[in-house]
Amino acid sequence: MKLTKLPIEYQEAIPVLKKLECAGFDAYFVGGSVRDTLLGQKIHDVDIATSAFPQEIKQLFPKTIDIGIEHGTVLVLHEGEQYEITTFRTESTYQDYRRPDSVSFVRTLAEDLKRRDFTINAFALKEDGEIIDLFDGLADLENRILRAVGQPYERFHEDALRMMRGIRFVSQLGFQLEAETAKAIQENHALLEKISVERMNVEFTKMLLGNYRSAGLKAFVETQCYIYCPGLREAGEALLRFSDLPAIPLSNESQAWALLINQMGLSEKDVAPFLKAWKCSNQMIKNVQKLVYGLSLRLEHPLEPLDIYYLGKEKAQDVEELIAYFHEIPQLETVEEIYESLPIKSMRELAIDGKVLLMTSGKTPGKWLSEALESAEKAVIQEKVANEREQLLAYLSTEYL
Ligand code: ATP
Ligand code: MG
Repeated sequence: MKLTKLPIEYQEAIPVLKKLECAGFDAYFVGGSVRDTLLGQKIHDVDIATSAFPQEIKQLFPKTIDIGIEHGTVLVLHEGEQYEITTFRTESTYQDYRRPDSVSFVRTLAEDLKRRDFTINAFALKEDGEIIDLFDGLADLENRILRAVGQPYERFHEDALRMMRGIRFVSQLGFQLEAETAKAIQENHALLEKISVERMNVEFTKMLLGNYRSAGLKAFVETQCYIYCPGLREAGEALLRFSDLPAIPLSNESQAWALLINQMGLSEKDVAPFLKAWKCSNQMIKNVQKLVYGLSLRLEHPLEPLDIYYLGKEKAQDVEELIAYFHEIPQLETVEEIYESLPIKSMRELAIDGKVLLMTSGKTPGKWLSEALESAEKAVIQEKVANEREQLLAYLSTEYL
């Protein structure tokens, strides 16, 4: 099969392929972007596979960065774009069902494509639009099927993460796992225990954010892969409940975690340990905690100025969007209006500060100080008092000064 027109991202990368070819090497576009092009979807990263070895790639291009040279990957900078160029390779020594600790470089494309996970991820594309399809991936793409390249059982033994990737693609593409592939995942799900949480996290969050999340979650439960994911051993039913929620795509990762946690019914104090077990960043944990808290408020009543002040504009809107999963219509404009009309947006905008309170009261610093400031802050947001120095001091005088 031959594509008549390549997306602009590929057209811009053609000089990079040509340069490798002029030096006598083979070079192709490979990976997810070829799949996405065939699906008519927008592509993100353009990946290139070549017969050139890393040192040979580096000699050809003036600007390169070693990002994974032991795996054969060099980042090439060309006309403001970045391209991952990876030497054709096989992954021969697999230990413990994980990514191989060493790779062997090879000089043929076929060997490289053979080590890829699914037939729809194993295409190569020439700059003239020719698609190389050694495993009938085009038929699978047409039939919307995810099929492991080669023997599924062996392939999941080589690298168990592929099972999570399969489920992630179910969720992103709405494709079905081919019967033997699905069976092999179910039989091998326990191998996920060996996989690093960081790699699992990437696939799991992509799964939660997929447009076909419901199908992805069902496959995740049916194949039992969830059992060996951090904190999910007992979550089968919660995950199925999650899959039954309205099929609205989530906007971001924090929302995904917050909705999952809501469906799991985790208590507030269990949120951080759960996300830590998934190796989420501290920033992510903070964001999700806010969304979980905000959602619990929003499920009781519309967000009030104080809630929106506390959450901040973005998170208040994230919370408001989440209400759609509970059969209510998000009132994003109302949230925005409330936010914009808040008398202050942060404590820094308060007309008094600790220094003023100390001077006025003549008292020594202590816990009362932050309590007084918080009380003033709250009163301003609730419009009980204007954000003016004298009025605030009068407001605080009976209790604190
Ligand atoms: P995305 O659109 O999310 O980037 P992708 O298919 O490009 O999806 P990547 O993780 O970027 O996924 O990997 C690029 C390509 O490398 C894949 O299309 C596949 O051919 C191959 N690949 C990635 N991970 C594995 C793996 N664990 N086992 C085998 N092949 C893999
Ligand atoms: Mg990719």
